[in-house]
Amino acid sequence: MRDFKKDGPRRDFDRGPREMHKAVCADCGKECDVPFKPADGRPVFCRDCFAKKKRY
Ligand SMILES: [Zn+2]
Repeated sequence: MRDFKKDGPRRDFDRGPREMHKAVCADCGKECDVPFKPADGRPVFCRDCFAKKKRY
């Protein structure tokens, strides 16, 4: 079961719309929006590729 309270306060909810950052998927090369700031040297994946990776 999920218990969000254990994760500590979640601020995403009262911040309104989530900030999206433009990034290029490291796998398929598509441009995508990610809800976090892409860090240098860190691969960013679009939703499709991210889902694919989770399967392994
Ligand atoms: Zn991709």
